[in-house]
Amino acid sequence: MAKTFRLDIVTPQGAAFTAEVEHLRAPGTQGSFGVLPGHTPFMTSLAVGEVDITVDGRVRPMAISGGFIEVLPDHSVILAQTAEFAEDIDVQRAEEALHRAEDRIKAHAADLDETRARAALNRSVNRLHVAGKKG
Ligand code: ATP
Repeated sequence: MAKTFRLDIVTPQGAAFTAEVEHLRAPGTQGSFGVLPGHTPFMTSLAVGEVDITVDGRVRPMAISGGFIEVLPDHSVILAQTAEFAEDIDVQRAEEALHRAEDRIKAHAADLDETRARAALNRSVNRLHVAGKKG
């Protein structure tokens, strides 16, 4: 049995990551799940959350803003709205986005798009959570 499988993470901006990896943990909309080499094929949607990629025995946390994953025995592809490794997250930017979203929700203006504000809040909270895990 192979010890690794290929992982491609793609966003609208382009390829975010490509490597042979040992393990993957992803935030499925139905719950978090793990993928090892030889996994049964499946497809599912992904929530805003943390993807943990094990490469060369080391876990690399990444923040994603939702998307889809296709799993095959020797290859997985994540199509994500955004994807940033913990070390690439700009903490100040995420804090500013968080405060903007909080202020919008609190102010409750007549033209507030609450779903959009809560989604922005969720993305920033997730980025701050993942940034806190950088090794
Ligand atoms: P902001 O209001 O700061 O743009 P956002 O949640 O609206 O935050 P997104 O639309 O999710 O931003 O992402 C736009 C682009 O900016 C994506 O390429 C994403 O990877 C990048 N990005 C957003 N926030 C950060 C951050 N804090 N650190 C690094 N990259 C970020």
